[in-house]
Amino acid sequence: MNLKAFYDVVVVGSGPAGSMTALFAAKNGASVLILERDREVGIPVRCAEGISARGLEKFFQPDERWIAQKIDGAKLYAPNGESCIINAGAVGDGYVLERRLFDAFICEEAAKNGVDILTKANVHDLVFDSSKLSGVKFTHLSKEKQVKANIIVGADGPESRIGKLAGIDTTLKLEDIEPGVQYLLTDIDLEAELTHFYFGNEIAPGGYVWVFPKGRNMANVGIGIRPDRSNGKNAQQYLDGFIEKNFPDSKSLAFIAGAVPTAQTLPEITRDNLMLVGDAARQVNPVTGGGLSNILVAGSIAGTVAAEAVKKDDFSNKFLKKYHKQWMKEKGNHQKVHYKLKQVFFDFSDDELNEIVGLLQGIPQEKLTLFQLFKTAVRNKPSLVKELIKIYL
Ligand SMILES: Cc1cc2nc3c(=O)[nH]c(=O)nc-3n(C[C@H](O)[C@H](O)[C@H](O)COP(=O)(O)OP(=O)(O)OC[C@H]3O[C@@H](n4cnc5c(N)ncnc54)[C@H](O)[C@@H]3O)c2cc1C
Repeated sequence: MNLKAFYDVVVVGSGPAGSMTALFAAKNGASVLILERDREVGIPVRCAEGISARGLEKFFQPDERWIAQKIDGAKLYAPNGESCIINAGAVGDGYVLERRLFDAFICEEAAKNGVDILTKANVHDLVFDSSKLSGVKFTHLSKEKQVKANIIVGADGPESRIGKLAGIDTTLKLEDIEPGVQYLLTDIDLEAELTHFYFGNEIAPGGYVWVFPKGRNMANVGIGIRPDRSNGKNAQQYLDGFIEKNFPDSKSLAFIAGAVPTAQTLPEITRDNLMLVGDAARQVNPVTGGGLSNILVAGSIAGTVAAEAVKKDDFSNKFLKKYHKQWMKEKGNHQKVHYKLKQVFFDFSDDELNEIVGLLQGIPQEKLTLFQLFKTAVRNKPSLVKELIKIYL
């Protein structure tokens, strides 16, 4: 494959943030290269693979090639074993994806629009010409290479080497890193049309256990916890205990570990000639730890603004900040409210969690939405209820 020596936009990382940015930049006329350090797009998968229908269908029609399971609701389990099902509103309509194939699909769409993609390309440094950011250095199949561009996009996941190399403070507070581990379990029996969430300080301190079905007999079963609440036990120990109790005869087909940045968007996600997108910019929903819906939006905005910058020949931070502003308007301000919510939600004692599920059981099924869940959980904090009303209603 012949790469050019210069592109309008070079994207580091082929996850959903990178491929969406590339797709939208190319669709709007920019020349784009994606560099991916792994040997294959979409692998390894570090995700429970859940997404709301609303989040997905804003951009793509679901395709049976990469949908593992259609979801019609979420079942929440209190520490005392009581449960309720939320199946109205956004939670009532979703999917469990095959992320490996979904990530490859977005890259394929980008490629169809002219994007070049190179795997096994590990970006390790930035190139500056007279202090102006003008490209990246990378290792490809043991060879040192470099490529020049007017815009470098750091879509390189939670560690974001690109952000750090550019001098952006990407430090995460301990309480804003949620270590997650997950098994792909088989030989189980599930209500496959529901996602399942288990809460409780003995089960998952500061987080929850998720069971996301891929058919009736298979599921991503994982856990996210707050390390500062974990009483010396790690996430895997909590998850193993849960599986022993709930799926004692299951077999594991895969195990993954990763970290979710459940923070707010970084104060700075652009600089002259630079944009950060996705986990690199901290754009995950801090309550659910779900990144996909938000990141599809962020990538579409970043790519569109990058192409506009190319047309205007203006790669200044002042111009690229248009992406940051639009992101805050569309999702970032919601994320701020979700961050406050996270701080309340994961502080509940088991008794309070039992009480919340009890109260939700009293709400008619057709009215039980995510908004109702959050509103019930923070009913004693009127200012937060008001903020929730603003973003949900
Ligand atoms: C255990 C777990 C479960 C999750 N479950 C869900 C879920 O159910 N639903 C949901 O919406 N979200 C979930 N998330 C979050 C979601 O997976 C992320 O928000 C999302 O993958 C972030 O996309 P991204 O493109 O920003 O980064 P990534 O998907 O991490 O992609 C970054 C890419 O950059 C590449 N890269 C990194 N450094 C370099 C480099 N130096 N050079 C070249 N390439 C590089 C990486 O190889 C990778 O391919 C989960 C996360 C975890 C850890």
